[in-house]
Amino acid sequence: MSDRVCPGKCNARPRREHDDHARALATWQAEMADWIASSDEDRGPEPVRPAEPTSRWMAGAPYWCLSDSSAVRSALTDLDEQMTLRLLAGDGHGSLSLAERVSSSPEPGSPSPAHDDLDELVRWLREWERAYRESQGWPTAPHRGEAAPALTSAVGWLLAHLDGILAHPDHAEGFGVGILYWHNRLAAAAKTRPRRISKQLRCPQCHLATLSQVEGEDRVECRNRDCGANRGGPVVMTIDEYEGRAHETIEAARTHRRAS
Ligand SMILES: [Zn+2]
Ligand SMILES: [Zn+2]
Repeated sequence: MSDRVCPGKCNARPRREHDDHARALATWQAEMADWIASSDEDRGPEPVRPAEPTSRWMAGAPYWCLSDSSAVRSALTDLDEQMTLRLLAGDGHGSLSLAERVSSSPEPGSPSPAHDDLDELVRWLREWERAYRESQGWPTAPHRGEAAPALTSAVGWLLAHLDGILAHPDHAEGFGVGILYWHNRLAAAAKTRPRRISKQLRCPQCHLATLSQVEGEDRVECRNRDCGANRGGPVVMTIDEYEGRAHETIEAARTHRRAS
């Protein structure tokens, strides 16, 4: 039997108590130093040392407890589907093709945070597979291609070897904690849709106050679905174009005022 502490949720409470206690202890030590240094006359009562935490730590078997190792398993199982949903939901880029996204962006920045996440996750999983294979003296992983199919096969391989990985002294904690992290990260990304900023100028085509920009993107677009219905769809322009129009509008208003 091991006396290792499970790194999972089961120990959330002792972990929190332990942190609180460490902070309280530091405060108490500072107070004690002041108390000792103070002169007898203005010395108050001696600061009371904080009580030791009482909740018990759950032991792993040997690293993760049963309940948390099954949490890691279901998180790993979910990753594939979570990622698929993340890619489908997109980043607020709407239905623009990749080429359009790239050409509408003045900088060679990333066209899609969701695809970046996918690449990062696939690399991360691959690295764990490599490390575990190496620790077992197994041959290196076959090439699994890129993107979504690579994720599916990496997840499949790791699921098949999960019991071994979670029982390995060098891999158990890092892998399990990382899987739970990725699961939370993708769940959070699914909840947060990019923020839209409404623009002041009216749409030059439909004349409604429906122009908006997705935060962080170089694109202002009309949100009126009927805008340009028979003229190639809603207005889309870059920030520079929008700023240019805004400038012209202000100038026009000034000239108009001066003339009248
Ligand atoms: Zn646990
Ligand atoms: Zn419009």
